[in-house]
Amino acid sequence: MASLTLQNIGKKFGRVRALSRINLQVDHGRFCVLLGPSGCGKSTLLQIIAGLTLQDEGSVLMDGKSVDHLSPRDRDVAMVFQNYALYPHMTVAENLGFGLRMRGTPKDLIKERIIETAGLLDLEPLLARKPRELSGGQRQRTAMGRALVRRPKLFLLDEPLSNLDARLRVSVRLELKRLHQKIKGTVLYVTHDQVEAMTLGDQVAVMREGRLHQLDKPDAVYDRPADTFVAAFIGSPPMNLFQGRLIRKDGRPFFASDDLLLEVPANLAGLAGKRVEAGIRPEDLRLDPVHGATFPARVEMVSNVGAEKYLHVKTGSTELTLRAAKDLSFLPGEKVNLSVAPHKLHVFVDGQRVNPLE
Ligand code: ATP
Repeated sequence: MASLTLQNIGKKFGRVRALSRINLQVDHGRFCVLLGPSGCGKSTLLQIIAGLTLQDEGSVLMDGKSVDHLSPRDRDVAMVFQNYALYPHMTVAENLGFGLRMRGTPKDLIKERIIETAGLLDLEPLLARKPRELSGGQRQRTAMGRALVRRPKLFLLDEPLSNLDARLRVSVRLELKRLHQKIKGTVLYVTHDQVEAMTLGDQVAVMREGRLHQLDKPDAVYDRPADTFVAAFIGSPPMNLFQGRLIRKDGRPFFASDDLLLEVPANLAGLAGKRVEAGIRPEDLRLDPVHGATFPARVEMVSNVGAEKYLHVKTGSTELTLRAAKDLSFLPGEKVNLSVAPHKLHVFVDGQRVNPLE
């Protein structure tokens, strides 16, 4: 296994700038997830790392050494794609061993690796079957096995679960996490599914339009989004975001908009007078007063999602969403009093987070 470093990677396709100055470090044995909306450049970045596409600028390093001059084969990287293709006429065992056979690996070693890999992925009872005799999840495991059996320096996985139905996705995701804990490979995993990113990643790289917006641990990306794009992109229901100003009142700093007046942490007092954007996660808007001041709102709609309820409320003309316990009942038109603790407010100036790290 190797560490991966990307230095200032840039790529254009004609006039489309697919990647701009991407810097990324994935340490040996870590699981890094590239997360972003469709077209943000995730697949292009994987192709560059694998050596299948050439970057215009920057460098790809493995274990600190540039691999830019190496062919895909010599980079010793294994890729698993969304549309993994298994050879239909070969058994699971033959599919697993194919890459090694092509590399001229001795037969005994191939057999040993197939048995070991099948053990890791619970494929032993299926080794003699053809792909058409497998379920979607078993095929996916075989595709993973083909990558694993080679013991590459780096795994690149491009939306490997997106062909599976929702239930299978959850179970294969858990298997993947367990597998990573066992083999401790260095993984770069592409997805646009934030739950997948948050549950699998040791670190999450959030991308948009060819740029890396934040590289952090999953809880840091959620708790301290670096900018308003990450704040709005991560979390469901999404963070409530409002335009307003920072003002000072009775010597204390507040976020003020036409409809809201919310105290912010004292260490933001220096921003008084600035136009800002404030964000509140739905779970941080509380029906019980967590902080002295409350503000009134009117219930517009209630979404019952089983384990809890989402309350869509309005204060003035400002709409907000909050989470509420499932055993509470609300009627449209009902008045509620809301509060938010100052340290739960996310504050952004020119789209960038200004709250100091807690
Ligand atoms: P998705 O999640 O939809 O797969 P992605 O984040 O993987 O998207 P890429 O496939 O890397 O995005 O594409 C990044 C940008 O580069 C897009 O604007 C895409 O249209 C463009 N692009 C990718 N490959 C080519 C190509 N071969 N020629 C021209 N433009 C391309």
